[in-house]
Amino acid sequence: MSTITVENVWAEFGDQIVIENLDFEVKSGAFLSVVGPSGCGKSTFLRMVLGQDRPSRGRLLLDGKPLPDEPDADRGVVFQRYSVFPHLTVLGNVVLAYELGQSRFLGKLFGAAKRRAKERAEELIVAVGLGAHRDKHPSALSGGMQQRLAIAQALAKDPKVLLLDEPFGALDPGTRAQMHALIKPLWEQAGMTVIMVTHDLKEAFNLGTRVVAFDKVRHDPQAPGRYGARVTYDLDLTREGAVPV
Ligand code: ADP
Ligand code: MG
Repeated sequence: MSTITVENVWAEFGDQIVIENLDFEVKSGAFLSVVGPSGCGKSTFLRMVLGQDRPSRGRLLLDGKPLPDEPDADRGVVFQRYSVFPHLTVLGNVVLAYELGQSRFLGKLFGAAKRRAKERAEELIVAVGLGAHRDKHPSALSGGMQQRLAIAQALAKDPKVLLLDEPFGALDPGTRAQMHALIKPLWEQAGMTVIMVTHDLKEAFNLGTRVVAFDKVRHDPQAPGRYGARVTYDLDLTREGAVPV
């Protein structure tokens, strides 16, 4: 189970309202795509779910319990440009992420647990198509390969929730299509809840089981800045009638 409840969440910075009263639930195992114009608060929302930013009002719950307001191993994240550790190899990066994820149960890993970390990291590296590159450093990889590494790293923590902030935005169309083919089965196998921010509508609809659009709705023309983004569309793509054509 990993249901996320967004309960009357606001984001305000000084007197600027960025997000105004988001109130919805993301069901366990859903793949939620979030779309909306640039600057409307999508990344701010994702950072709040990650625990990097705090809502100025309202609450975020995971399975009914408040999400810790520090990032933790329950939440994996991939940004548009992810800073993987440059001094570690592909394998080293994924092993480290796995160890961070496991250490919440076990503390520091030794012996068999350490071997298991390497095995699991190798499985994930193969799963994202980097099997031939496991001993390379990130600087030797293309942008698409670095995003694959970032995904392997996020999954190595065995997170309940995977947060993706325009993860494929910097990639060329061919690589992007490859990443779509990669992420869907990984999400299905892991049974995670995914929230992906994207400005690519095709990506939003192809990958998502639900698409939510944020937008700023002006309701007081005399008070510029005194309104924030709200949900303007909320489409459940698993319902009959919502079929791709
Ligand atoms: P999006 O990801 O939809 O393009 P963002 O969430 O990055 O939008 O930004 C939404 C707005 O929130 C922007 O106007 C940005 O300047 C503002 N904002 C985000 N974080 C902060 C912050 N820490 N302090 C002040 N303003 C912020
Ligand atoms: Mg953004």
